[in-house]
Amino acid sequence: MTQEVRVRFAPSPTGPLHIGGVRTALYNYLFARQKDGKMILRIEDTDSTRFVPGAEEYINEALQWLGIEIDEGVKEGGDYGPYKQSERRDIYRRYVKQLLDDGKAYVAFDTPEQLEAKRAEIKNFQYDASTRLLMSNSLTLPAQEVQQRIESGEKYVVRFKIEPDRDVEVNDLIRGLVTIHSSVLDDKVLYKSADDLPTYHLANIVDDHLMRVTHVIRGEEWLPSAPLHVLLYEALGWADTMPQFVHLPLLLKPDGKGKLSKRDGDRLGFPVFPLEWHDPKSGEVSSGYRERGYLPQAVVNFLALLGWNPGDDREMFTMQELINEFSFEHCSKKGAKFDYEKGKWFNHEYLMNMPDEQLAQLFTPVLAQHCDASAFSAQYIARAVGMVKGRVNFVGELWDNTRFFFEAPTSYAEKDVRKRWKADTPQIMRQLIEVLRGIDDFSAEASEPIVLQWIKDHELHMGNVMNAFRLTVVGECKGPHMFLITELLGKEETIARIERGIETIQPIGDAQ
Ligand code: GLU
Repeated sequence: MTQEVRVRFAPSPTGPLHIGGVRTALYNYLFARQKDGKMILRIEDTDSTRFVPGAEEYINEALQWLGIEIDEGVKEGGDYGPYKQSERRDIYRRYVKQLLDDGKAYVAFDTPEQLEAKRAEIKNFQYDASTRLLMSNSLTLPAQEVQQRIESGEKYVVRFKIEPDRDVEVNDLIRGLVTIHSSVLDDKVLYKSADDLPTYHLANIVDDHLMRVTHVIRGEEWLPSAPLHVLLYEALGWADTMPQFVHLPLLLKPDGKGKLSKRDGDRLGFPVFPLEWHDPKSGEVSSGYRERGYLPQAVVNFLALLGWNPGDDREMFTMQELINEFSFEHCSKKGAKFDYEKGKWFNHEYLMNMPDEQLAQLFTPVLAQHCDASAFSAQYIARAVGMVKGRVNFVGELWDNTRFFFEAPTSYAEKDVRKRWKADTPQIMRQLIEVLRGIDDFSAEASEPIVLQWIKDHELHMGNVMNAFRLTVVGECKGPHMFLITELLGKEETIARIERGIETIQPIGDAQ
């Protein structure tokens, strides 16, 4: 029997989830679902100084909005909990002790000032095999003194004793074999007595092991930590069950120069967070994809293709299709440029492909902000949005494009009046009203040939008549096909609008 695939998304609740973090969560999810495995959400909150209230709720809400389902986590429960690191202190303490007992780690008392002094004294100082015997720790102090100092409550840390002169190999599914010399690594702090908490490195390894994680899929920024993690697995005696590492390519700025940051979003006017975020300290509000009007499916599709490709030029994928097709072989090593315009394009495509009824449902709350939406049937709204959806990228833009379906124009675009409303226009419009009155079937199909025939028969100017007609009905000379508009508005409303236009529109400029 093959081993069950278990992956984890392990964010730290230090602020809103960055869009790169969302992609990491997505790839974990796609892989887990493809392999019929489990997706764990682990909250890595061991750095109490960076904790931000609301961040954990934000993470949950963002994943839920995007349809990234969690199998085991703080909310979901599971057999390997608790899933929040600050609730696992006892567990970590046990492994700190094991490492100390086995001589794989040691206690260090160096104060920040002492460390600073050493840095000033020794060029390129690093706490490692070459310097640790010059420092204040359990390798240099008598055991009794160490014991006493700990018992008296003096603050200490536990450092990992990294053996020098070893090649450490990290096997990565995207990058292949990465080898690093252990002498470049420092004796990382694994535990701090000050808050009785492990650091990220120890907590992460202990939890991945105890939670039976089989694949560690995370951003490239964690690649430099991977050799240390490999050594920790060995030191803890878990080398045989070490997970497979997968470091995902970076998300780059739109111009490809450097890592995508929050500032790029501010500078170029696009969100870098899935949901709007209200910073509890500064009060600053950062925009989110959801509030900008993105559909979660479009965001998922867009993010999936930032670092992965299907091997051909297909671009539209549902979540299920992504689950079926995703593979690390088709993930690139190179960073992926964040092309925001492409994100808009995806949203447009999803709106276009959505049934009009569904789009109308999304639009109705927007409509209600502008008029009494309950006065219109769902079917009416659906037909209105169906006519203009090709022109918009976002649901919010539908109002500007459909407004005339919901309220008669009260003003008329000046440049169109100047061009199309001549001295004889009112009289022609009066004739048009008569023609329209005589039409029983007001569908576009039936009414259009009758009106066009009348224009021809009377040798009227097609452009002028049709545009003046449109001006009275829409308020400007834009919009979908004229006879589809009048079909939906109906005969009475169409005629009322023309009458109103005749009464209110005054010729401007050179019109005679
Ligand atoms: N807590 C780390 C983060 O915030 C997790 C890194 C990892 O997945 O190992 O990204």
